Amino acid sequence: ERRKLAAGNWKMNGTGADLSEIDALVSGHGDAGCEVLICPPATLITRMVARADGKIAVGGQDCHPAASGAHTGDISAAMLKDAGASFVITGHSERRADHGETDEIVRAKTEAGWAAGLTVIVCIGETLDEREASNTLGIIDGQLAGSVPDAATGHNLVIAYEPVWAIGTGKVPSTDQIGEVHDHIRTRLEQRFGAGVGRTVRLLYGGSVKPGNAADIFAVPNVDGALVGGASLKADDFGGIISAL
Ligand code: 13P
Repeated sequence: ERRKLAAGNWKMNGTGADLSEIDALVSGHGDAGCEVLICPPATLITRMVARADGKIAVGGQDCHPAASGAHTGDISAAMLKDAGASFVITGHSERRADHGETDEIVRAKTEAGWAAGLTVIVCIGETLDEREASNTLGIIDGQLAGSVPDAATGHNLVIAYEPVWAIGTGKVPSTDQIGEVHDHIRTRLEQRFGAGVGRTVRLLYGGSVKPGNAADIFAVPNVDGALVGGASLKADDFGGIISAL
């Protein structure tokens, strides 16, 4: 019932020359059974949509909470939608850390994404200190309650669990640890939004997902796909992850 989702986050990587990776993904995995999404830098969205041939969805990595206005350098959700995006990521730990984004800001950005008709991937996850202090589930609860608005549905919301200490480090939680957090997120979503919505929201794992570890991670209950950074930049690597899903 929940369609699997292989999502790539290119972060601040990629220029026009890298669009050949999209051509390779379209030809190699355009008919994958799962949904495939790439979130490139905003400068590439229009060109990527043109190359994706309707086979691969394209998303933004962030949006401003306001619909328009005097916010130099920012991009609104409606602009992403206009450029051809169907998704946007909010609350990535790099934005929380580098730009001081609080749960309140992430919630406002998520609402802005919904107002523009985008599906929003809200990112949550604990730091190493928080995990070592046995605080992981408490952090997850706080971020879920604070970052996810009330109007969530199985269509407009995806949650990405990205332990901060696993991002770009090659360190991956055990499958038991991933399962514990994903089960917990599922329970909280069902409690807050009811079983109908709670069961249909897709839960992605993110943090050092590679072709070699993807199958083990995807076998964990309540893991509906992945949000992939480094290994989404090359079609060979990302294709291996898509195949494992
Ligand atoms: P890596 O896959 O490079 O660890 O990045 C994960 C991530 O932050 C995706 O949003």
